[in-house]
Amino acid sequence: MTQTPWQNLSALLANRPPLTRFAPSPTGHLHLGHIASALYVWSIAKAVQGEVLLRIEDHDRGRCHKIFEEGIFDDLYWLGFIHEDPKVRESADSSPSHPHIMRQSEREDRYREVLNDLWNRSLVYACDCSRKAIFERSDWKNSTELIYDGHCRHRQLKPEPNRGLRLKIDSKPIRFFDAKQGWQEQNPAEQCGDFLIRERNGYWTYNFAVTVDDSDQGINLIVRGEDLLHATARQLYLRELLKNPNPVVFFHHPLIKDSTGEKKLSKIDQAESLKTMRWNGKSPQTLIGEVMFLLGLNASADRPLTLDEACHNLIIPSP
Ligand code: GLU
Ligand code: ZN
Repeated sequence: MTQTPWQNLSALLANRPPLTRFAPSPTGHLHLGHIASALYVWSIAKAVQGEVLLRIEDHDRGRCHKIFEEGIFDDLYWLGFIHEDPKVRESADSSPSHPHIMRQSEREDRYREVLNDLWNRSLVYACDCSRKAIFERSDWKNSTELIYDGHCRHRQLKPEPNRGLRLKIDSKPIRFFDAKQGWQEQNPAEQCGDFLIRERNGYWTYNFAVTVDDSDQGINLIVRGEDLLHATARQLYLRELLKNPNPVVFFHHPLIKDSTGEKKLSKIDQAESLKTMRWNGKSPQTLIGEVMFLLGLNASADRPLTLDEACHNLIIPSP
């Protein structure tokens, strides 16, 4: 990270103070991959004197549970990223120094407002295609992403239950600056076609909710895993339609891998949760040391590191 042009950040952000966020989805317990992500978010914020907001991305109501949200707060507090457990904070009177935590499940009215605006501008249409139908029509069976072929663009379907809502995408390359990966160019029309903003089951999609939230909260520094790099241009496309002119800089960080070194750690693979590790007596410093080792920034997995040491190492890796 020594080569990252943080010195130019202010100009890239049009002199606005850096504001970033940590935005976990409460679909399971946190694991080491989340610690890696949180370390990047908080250490970068610290390095650029920015602020971190916490957002609970519970747009997928079928998979998100309150118990996991509470677990996230608890783990972040235990690790030292936040200095107070929001559960405690929220049960007391909210004071201005304790900004309310954004939850996507509480943003229905705002998402509807944005949808209505896009609908009235004829930028959104209803679609009744199943994934299977799109796949069968597709010429891109070997591509990593399914590309929607625009089948329903001109069918003028009504937005009824069991129909998704898609954004009309013009083919155009979108450029953005990533402080880790360098300048990037992506064309959503070629990557995925008209993408869903609301699923057929009525849930808002990740891309839609995250873009409206980032825009509304004034987030201008997005630090997240490199598995989301491919989705960035479609979020910027949407952000432009929200008429948010403020520039955003990204930092897509490397992911830590599972024990085979092949795949990223994920809840689906039953990555051991922090809860279990805590239960087994590991300290925050031990876990932070382990994560830093997996990121290649600690000489040994058994060398504990404090949060401050880890933040320092992430910004100035030891030679
Ligand atoms: N909620 C997403 C996740 O937990 C992160 C989204 C983002 O940072 O844009 O993977
Ligand atoms: Zn369709």
